[in-house]
Amino acid sequence: MSKGRVALVTGGTRGIGAAISTALRDAGYTVAANYAGNDAAAERFMEETGIAVYKFDVSNFEMVKENVAKITEELGPVDVVVNNAGITRDGTLHRMSPDQWDAVIQTNLSSCYNLSRCVIESMRERNFGRIVNIGSINGQAGQYGQVNYAAAKSGIHGFTKALSQEGAAKGITVNAIAPGYVDTDMVRAVPPNVLEKIIAKIPMGRLGRAEDIARGVLFLVADEADFITGATLSINGGQHMY
Ligand code: NAP
Repeated sequence: MSKGRVALVTGGTRGIGAAISTALRDAGYTVAANYAGNDAAAERFMEETGIAVYKFDVSNFEMVKENVAKITEELGPVDVVVNNAGITRDGTLHRMSPDQWDAVIQTNLSSCYNLSRCVIESMRERNFGRIVNIGSINGQAGQYGQVNYAAAKSGIHGFTKALSQEGAAKGITVNAIAPGYVDTDMVRAVPPNVLEKIIAKIPMGRLGRAEDIARGVLFLVADEADFITGATLSINGGQHMY
């Protein structure tokens, strides 16, 4: 029944987002994968998967609006949005610049407003919608050197709970996933000695795989998941129980 639905995955050409885009395609969704600036990775992804890619900055409302309209015209009205695009600009607060703060809040949190705002009216008209926001274990537990990232991700969890209440009567579910540490470029940027210590704290004894997160998204966006809303699904190998 979910077959043929149109899904937009932000940051959908690399890392966790690429796994989400591919899993949705395999399940029969028509997928639009967004990215910001890495054209080479996006082109490779498109060639390998046949998934349509759309370059725009999720932190820019006008660009999001324009591209949601373009996707609607090319693929059909958007039924599923996965707000996955995210960045880190780490640093302790006493050294953090306003730019570091703004970039992370705009990209990781305001993007959820931008995307959701641009699809919500159409979802309400059609009495169907699935929105999944990718939070983080560090939004649940906090993390040294990441006040910007933890605040944005924590904000995502509040955004999810509030919007889920607004969407419920219109068949729109809104949920969050809080991944633990997943083996992607983002985590490969963490110094190896720090990463070793992180892995030692994961009961499952390994980093997550992007596919572990994609599996959760598929579960939440299914037509049959219509009684699951406002929830946060932690996928973290047992590292943090919330
Ligand atoms: P990643 O490998 O760094 O990939 C990030 C993706 O987001 C890329 O496709 C990138 O596009 C896109 N992106 C970044 N800024 C954007 C913008 N302004 N507009 C549009 N697209 C943008 O990241 P990841 O590790 O897969 O993480 C995906 C999500 O999971 C993020 O929200 C992250 O915070 C969250 N998360 C990750 C982990 C982890 O351990 N990896 C843990 C918890 C939560 P380009 O390819 O063009 O750069």
